[in-house]
Amino acid sequence: MDEKELQGKEFFSWEEFSLFFDNWREQTKSLFCISQSKSLSKCKWASEPPRPEVVHALKYWHVVFICKEMRSSITKKKEQSVPKVQNSEEEEEEERESTGCPARIILMMNKEMDRLVITECQLNHNHPLCPIEFAYYFSRGHLMDNCCLPVGITNKMSKQFLGVQEIQYMLKNCKSWDNGIQDTLNVLNNLCIRDPGAKMKLVFVENKVIIQTFFFLTSMMRSLCQRFPLVLFFDRVKGFNEEFDLYTILCVDANSRGRECSFCLTKKGTPNVLRFTLASLLQSVPDIKFKVRCLTVGVDIGELEVVNELLPYARLHICRTQVLEILFSKAHEMGASEDEKVWPALCKTAKAGSFVAYRQAVKEMDSLLPQEFMKYYREHWHPRPERWVEFWNFEPARGIDGSELMKQHKQKVMVGFNPSRTLAQCILYLMVIQTPKEEVRDLDEDEVVTRYHSICNPDSASLIEEELSFVKHGAYDIKKTAEGFVLNDRVSEFHMDHSLTTCNCSIYTSSLLPCRHLFATRLHTGEPLFDISLLQSNKNALMTVSL
Ligand SMILES: [Zn+2]
Ligand SMILES: [Zn+2]
Repeated sequence: MDEKELQGKEFFSWEEFSLFFDNWREQTKSLFCISQSKSLSKCKWASEPPRPEVVHALKYWHVVFICKEMRSSITKKKEQSVPKVQNSEEEEEEERESTGCPARIILMMNKEMDRLVITECQLNHNHPLCPIEFAYYFSRGHLMDNCCLPVGITNKMSKQFLGVQEIQYMLKNCKSWDNGIQDTLNVLNNLCIRDPGAKMKLVFVENKVIIQTFFFLTSMMRSLCQRFPLVLFFDRVKGFNEEFDLYTILCVDANSRGRECSFCLTKKGTPNVLRFTLASLLQSVPDIKFKVRCLTVGVDIGELEVVNELLPYARLHICRTQVLEILFSKAHEMGASEDEKVWPALCKTAKAGSFVAYRQAVKEMDSLLPQEFMKYYREHWHPRPERWVEFWNFEPARGIDGSELMKQHKQKVMVGFNPSRTLAQCILYLMVIQTPKEEVRDLDEDEVVTRYHSICNPDSASLIEEELSFVKHGAYDIKKTAEGFVLNDRVSEFHMDHSLTTCNCSIYTSSLLPCRHLFATRLHTGEPLFDISLLQSNKNALMTVSL
């Protein structure tokens, strides 16, 4: 195809042009690259701007392609003068040199603002076109892939944690609103500004501007897992989103509540999620590596061997309730009778309290369940009973119903379920459920109240009960400071000490009993709501004294 045919050729989208241009370059073995471009989303318009669908389809107002030979001579010249900091194609000054190749192509949006047109075309190279060089440099689809963010940037950013600087650098280089990248970056930017201690990773598919995985933990999440690293949980929240799977690591706070330590959103079918999430958590909070003593994972989590490698002192458990559910459905699938003895027999095995009891329970299953099922059982579950049978449960994890915590977490994130959220919306949503207001939603304060009633005189216990009941209804903003904690209830600020036993509010100062602010902050940071040290300033509150 010669100049005449190319000149004036029209395209209804950047995609159409990219496909055409890829084919044309392959045929002619010519290497062209962008020397200047102006994207439509960054243009300022004196009159009516083009419609959003046009901006989306055409992407550019104008693009100048030059021969790669020309480009290399420009680059060489630049390297000699100023060290090149960024590999941005945009705003690069075009410098014509007599030695450079004059071949160039200019593409522009037409006046009607509905298509891209080749307005200038000079195809005479001053050098031979080399097919070997072409095969080395040419990459099909490169123009299309690069139209949002240069893949050089996304490849680099995928390998590191992101701070405000990196996010703003990407935002600056973002050329269009395509595939929600800019939305996601804006959300991350806000998150980073609000919480500079937050840790996040954004992994792109290699050589594509497609987000594969997003990992994050806030400062609050970090301090929770630093404070409660002993027993962790890892599972996937099924059905959270159409495109992305949500994986969460939970710890257990002093009030026996499951608390989020980190989130990982990843495109469905992404491999090695457990390794990536655990490794990212350990990079963010290195001091917990040798403190984690037990990790319980959901039944469909794979690559379990990484646990031992990454958390050398941790035992690995598989969520018992989920194992039971799998066994039960397998038993039926493999022809177990509709016998009501099946479920109790499986439970007896799972909850065996000794090795002897476990052997006995397996024997009973043998007599009750089909051979095929027992074969499956012996292959999959019998070799590693320490991973899921009660008897082998790790002591500190006893009394913590892991499957219940995971279930509660899933219910929490599935409130307001909307599987078609964008990634940016998913992240925003996960931030909202971390706020103190959402955290207290399922608080059951009755047990705590009963315990205070059992040791305090009635007047003090009633006052504490009243303060506890306020916790659920307040909308608070809680911050850690050098002196302790500050709680803002949208009217005033209240200051508390590090150990969360004193507050400067009138309730505390007049009664010397724990106030709603202390309770709300303790709930947020995971410290116990029932704590005898909360009564140390007011010994009269204790029943033994009042008797
Ligand atoms: Zn050339
Ligand atoms: Zn207070």
